Amino acid sequence: MSGEEREKRAARNEDLFRQVNERLHDLAVITGSSEPHEKFVCECEQTSCSLLVELSAGEYQTVRANDRRFVVFPEPWHTSPELEAVVERRDRYWVVEKRGAAGVEAEDLVERGTNLL
Ligand SMILES: [Zn+2]
Repeated sequence: MSGEEREKRAARNEDLFRQVNERLHDLAVITGSSEPHEKFVCECEQTSCSLLVELSAGEYQTVRANDRRFVVFPEPWHTSPELEAVVERRDRYWVVEKRGAAGVEAEDLVERGTNLL
């Protein structure tokens, strides 16, 4: 698989997980869950990954405020060093940030053969 295809696939996967997580968050708000942490699915690139991470509503919103950041399970296996950097390491979750502007800009850079590092 080319780097470009991989970028696009990763972006699609993560967008899907983000939508799932926003629904989970809405649900927790609607049902007035009293748990200190809400459960979210790991937003990593692995299609076989279905692990859950726990964040408070505030933590989730902080991550979600940045379009380039995603929550993943706190293990290296859930990160893609060539596509993203781990910007926050907590006991319950890690936050990764896409290099470049996750979507179009990153793909353009890959197409031009520019080294993102
Ligand atoms: Zn994962």
